[in-house]
Amino acid sequence: MNPADLPPELAAQPVDLIDAVRAIAQGPLAARAQAIDEGAYPIDLIQQLAKMGAMSAHIDQPGQPGNYVTAILAMAEVGKVCGASSFLMWQQAVSALYLFGSENPAMNGERLQRHLAGEIIGATGMSNPMKGFAGIEKILLKGTPVEGGYLINGTLPWVSNLAPEHSLGTVATVEGAPEIMFMLPCNAPGVTLKHCPKFSGMEGTATFAVQCKDVFIGASEMLANPCLPYLKRIRGAFLLLQCGIAAGIIQGAIDSMWKVEDQLGHVNQFLDDRPDQLQAELDDLVGTVVKLCETPYDPSDAFYLDVVNARLAGGELSLRAANAALMHQGARGYLMCSDVQRRVREAQFVAIVTPAIKHLRKQAADLCAETLPA
Ligand SMILES: Cc1cc2nc3c(=O)[nH]c(=O)nc-3n(C[C@H](O)[C@H](O)[C@H](O)COP(=O)(O)OP(=O)(O)OC[C@H]3O[C@@H](n4cnc5c(N)ncnc54)[C@H](O)[C@@H]3O)c2cc1C
Repeated sequence: MNPADLPPELAAQPVDLIDAVRAIAQGPLAARAQAIDEGAYPIDLIQQLAKMGAMSAHIDQPGQPGNYVTAILAMAEVGKVCGASSFLMWQQAVSALYLFGSENPAMNGERLQRHLAGEIIGATGMSNPMKGFAGIEKILLKGTPVEGGYLINGTLPWVSNLAPEHSLGTVATVEGAPEIMFMLPCNAPGVTLKHCPKFSGMEGTATFAVQCKDVFIGASEMLANPCLPYLKRIRGAFLLLQCGIAAGIIQGAIDSMWKVEDQLGHVNQFLDDRPDQLQAELDDLVGTVVKLCETPYDPSDAFYLDVVNARLAGGELSLRAANAALMHQGARGYLMCSDVQRRVREAQFVAIVTPAIKHLRKQAADLCAETLPA
C-alpha cells in the first residue's frame, strides 16, 4: 500500500518498518508471487520479514507495548501482493502469540525472543480444535498422560508453514481431564508430515497433514494445561491478526480495479462494487479493527463477538472485492498469469480458512444467543 492509498487509521502508523516490508513485498515477493501460487515456499522471504520485526510488532517488549495495528498493516502490505505469503506471516505472528500468552517460562523467555527474531519458525494447527470447541467436528488429537508428559496420537489434515525444524501450536483432548495446548515439533519422534492433495491456490504455503503416533510432549512444549482459559485470552488477538490478510487482499483488488479505470471506466461504471465504494467499506472495517486492537486480550464474549463480526466482514469483503476486480479487469484478469484471478482464489481461502464464514456466522449466532436474556 502506498501511504496515499492507506485508510486514514493506518496511515498514522510508524512507517519505517512498513516501508521496509513494502520494499520486499513490491520487489522480490512480487517477482515470485506466481511461483508461490504454484508451490514455491518462500521461507527465505518469510524469515527476512521476521528478522525485520514484521511479525513481532504485536508482542509486548520491555518498555514497548505491542502494537497490533502495525502487525496487521505489515501483513496487509504483503497480502496486497501475495495472499499466501501474508498467511505465512500470520502463522509466524500467531505462533509468537501462543508463546507470549503462555504462562510456561520455557515458552515466553528466550524461546519467544528467538521466535521474534525469526530464528525459530512457528505454525498453527488450530483449525480442528477451534471447530471442535465450536461443536462443528470432533477434536482429532488425543493425549494420554505418561510420566513427565503426554503421548499424542491422531492426524491433523492440513497445517501450513511446516518443515521438519518448525513447530506448530495445537490441542489434544485428554480422557477425563481438560484439553491441553502445546507446541508440536515436526521433527519429534512419531511425527510424520504427509503431502496434501493439490489445492486450487495457496500451494506455496508448505501445507501438510500431520500424523502423530505416540509423540511425547513434555513440560517444555506445554503452552497451557488446561487450555480453555488461555485460549479465551488470546482468541480475539488470533482473529484480529487474520484481518491483515483480508485487508491486503481487498486493497490489492481495489488497486487492480483502478488500473483499468482510464481504459474501461466508461463501461465499468455499470458494475456493482466500484472501487471507491469498496475502499469506503474497507476504510470503515479497518477503523473498526484498529479500535478493537486497543484491547486485544479482552476475554469478554462481548468483545469477541465484535471481533468475530469484523473478521466475518473481512472474509465477505475479500470475496466481493476479488470478484469485483475480475469483473472490472475482464479477460486480462482471467489470464493464468494475472494477479487478479489469483486473488480470487486467495480471497476464497480467507473465506474458508478457520474460522470459515460459516463457522464465524455460527459463532456469532451462538454468542448472541448466550448474551440475550432467555
Ligand atoms: C491451503 C490450506 C491451508 C491450510 N492451513 C491450515 C493451517 O495452517 N492450520 C490449520 O489448522 N488448518 C489449516 N487449513 C484448514 C482450514 O483452516 C479449514 O479448516 C479447512 O479449509 C476446512 O474448513 P471448513 O470450516 O470449511 O470445514 P469443511 O471443509 O466444511 O469441513 C471440514 C470437515 O470435512 C473433512 N474434509 C474436508 N475435505 C476433505 C477431504 N478432501 N477428505 C477428507 N475429509 C475432508 C475435514 O476433515 C473436516 O472434518 C488449511 C486449509 C487449506 C485448504
